[in-house]
Amino acid sequence: MVNTVYASASRYTQGTGATASLPAEMAYLGLPGPVAIVSGPTVKGLLGETWATVLGDAGVEFSCIPFAGECSRSAIAETVAAADAAGAGVILGAGGGKVLDTARATAATLDRPFICCPTVASTDSPCSALAVIYSEEGIYEGFESFGRNPDLVLVDTEVISKGPVRYFVAGMGDALSTVFEARACRASAQQNLRGGLATIAAVEIGEACYRTIMSDGRTALADMKRGEVTEAFERVVEANTLLSGIGFESAGLAAAHGLHNAMTGAEGTHSSLHGEKVAFGVMVHLALEEQPAEVVDDARQFCLDVGLPVTLEGVGLSADDETTLRAIAERAVQPGGFVHNEPFSVSAESVYEAILSADRLGRAAGAS
Ligand SMILES: [Zn+2]
Repeated sequence: MVNTVYASASRYTQGTGATASLPAEMAYLGLPGPVAIVSGPTVKGLLGETWATVLGDAGVEFSCIPFAGECSRSAIAETVAAADAAGAGVILGAGGGKVLDTARATAATLDRPFICCPTVASTDSPCSALAVIYSEEGIYEGFESFGRNPDLVLVDTEVISKGPVRYFVAGMGDALSTVFEARACRASAQQNLRGGLATIAAVEIGEACYRTIMSDGRTALADMKRGEVTEAFERVVEANTLLSGIGFESAGLAAAHGLHNAMTGAEGTHSSLHGEKVAFGVMVHLALEEQPAEVVDDARQFCLDVGLPVTLEGVGLSADDETTLRAIAERAVQPGGFVHNEPFSVSAESVYEAILSADRLGRAAGAS
């Protein structure tokens, strides 16, 4: 008998200017300083003064560790050494997915609490206990699952609203996949990313994630472009970050992320963001499952409306490049690949056919 398992961050705090509540949140959770802050130069430039002011006022020591540029094993080892040398009591990661994962792996290695401050709502990873590991060249190598989820996820929507629109859109692509992968794992009774069956809570959160981005995603994007932090924007940030995060980790992943992982091995896709590749992965996922036209059309229309790719060309690939597409299909069906969480058997041939079918439908819908 396999247990049902649900994992999430201990505390999730979101709002405009939420960065200022960092010391209060730390005190509430009993997290000790000094804080080792891992971030890239842009985020340090954006938030450095706020950190200095609010942590200084609260008497919490902190130091900054520059992010090495890739979440690779050597970058993690360097960050661990720097945080250890700084005598860190808690590790804080601020930035995008790779910065956060490097900081998360550092905290796990040093057995320190972890504070996760996403500055873009571009992926479902901040709330999870997983770090995606890449090679020095940026090719997906696999993921590591640590025992603990973040002690605190602190989301400053004012910061996110000023970030790149493309990253926010990519986050909606990642969030679009959650419900379909959760349903696939439930149908096949596959284990989630934490080694248990999905709880009702996780599956329902996946459903709420889909409802939220479908009803508020287009509005939230328009609001962000106007520079306004509205309720719709707040809701979609939550969907991209919290709902999608819990959904994928505690309900499970299937074909959409399986395709994403296989696609990262194709050079043409390297300029696409995680959520952009996942969006096309959703189209392949739905084709593979032979979902009814109305389900596929709703998801595709959403992608077209917000600017997510629904064709091979959209993710830097070509329908004429059979060698590359067959290699992607082969990689997707390697043992342990998420496509095997689908409730039917999946072969390289069926994945290849689904890729072509999704691309045909995407082009027919008028996307390039
Ligand atoms: Zn994802």
